Amino acid sequence: MSYKASKDRYENMPYNRCGNSGLMLPAISLGLWHNFGDVDDFENCRKMVHRAFDLGITHFDLANNYGPSAGSAESNFGKILKKDLASHRDELIISTKAGYMMWDGPYGDWGSRKYLLASLDQSLKRLGVDYVDIFYSHRPDPQTPIEETMRALGSAVRQGKALYVGLSNYTAEQTVDAIAVLKQFGIPCLIHQPSYSMLNRWVEDGLLDVVEEEGIGCIAFSPLAQGKLTDKYLNGIPEDSRAAKAHGFLQKNDITDKLLKTVGSLNKIAADRGQSLAQMALAWVLKDDRITSAIVGASKVEQIEQNIAALENNVFSSDEIFAIEKILVPLQ
Ligand code: NDP
Repeated sequence: MSYKASKDRYENMPYNRCGNSGLMLPAISLGLWHNFGDVDDFENCRKMVHRAFDLGITHFDLANNYGPSAGSAESNFGKILKKDLASHRDELIISTKAGYMMWDGPYGDWGSRKYLLASLDQSLKRLGVDYVDIFYSHRPDPQTPIEETMRALGSAVRQGKALYVGLSNYTAEQTVDAIAVLKQFGIPCLIHQPSYSMLNRWVEDGLLDVVEEEGIGCIAFSPLAQGKLTDKYLNGIPEDSRAAKAHGFLQKNDITDKLLKTVGSLNKIAADRGQSLAQMALAWVLKDDRITSAIVGASKVEQIEQNIAALENNVFSSDEIFAIEKILVPLQ
């Protein structure tokens, strides 16, 4: 299979400014946490990346440990980049992260300078690139001084190995501190990457105010709650779904009767809007102007197509918002 990028790939996707920076991100980005590892079908990975790019997705989100095995999502994306997208490198925003367990011993986890910079070098090798566009501290490290972690991010930029830096999974307070430290080093923070979905709204309690005040972008991960905010579990757990896979983070026992009741009610509202539940869940996350982009995961090309079509109907009436809140309130 040879790949030629679609000529009209920039015609429909909206690109949102990332905080006060010069960088624009697509409203929907693709994440490679699941389904892009060496346990997955490489040709399917390739097809998903092609289709995403053809539909205007310029941003691909990775981390050192994505797979399984850890590192294999970066290696697979690197192969696709080399084979098919090398001439499009300047059209792509590739992000990676370090912060979770990656290799044995005291230097392969958390937030030390030793770990972050060694990990970034490994990521660049696996991806086959000279630099990534965004390098994240994947989580705050309570044992390492924030100055050390932020200085390591700053070094990545100064060494030309990352164009921008970001924070992921930092609380509102930790974000304020980290941004202040980065500023002292003359390095702007581009973006925060928190979890956010109709089923997980912690960012509404302070973090979204911080990103606005600080003028940084916000890119929501797991906007479909790993697939729970779709219609896929309404009639049982499909064999090829994340909840059924042994290596997935979603477990069968996460699909509870209480969840299915909530999802069933949301599904009815989505149907009244003429959308799938996945589409409504994405539109719901993106309705807040402070959200620059939503990073979706996918196991099939059709899911990417369906998810991008969410952008065709992303306005909610006050009645719809009210009805959705009524369903979600018992979960808060
Ligand atoms: P989602 O909440 O978008 O869940 C993706 C899953 O939902 C897919 O794998 C698929 O499940 C299902 N799905 C997607 N679209 C549809 C559809 N239209 N219809 C039915 N089912 C659908 O996101 P993820 O949890 O995958 O996270 C997205 C990205 O966010 C990651 O790849 C990663 O880049 C980032 N992330 C960052 C984290 C961090 O700590 N910074 C942590 C977690 C994620 P199935 O496989 O069952 O088909």
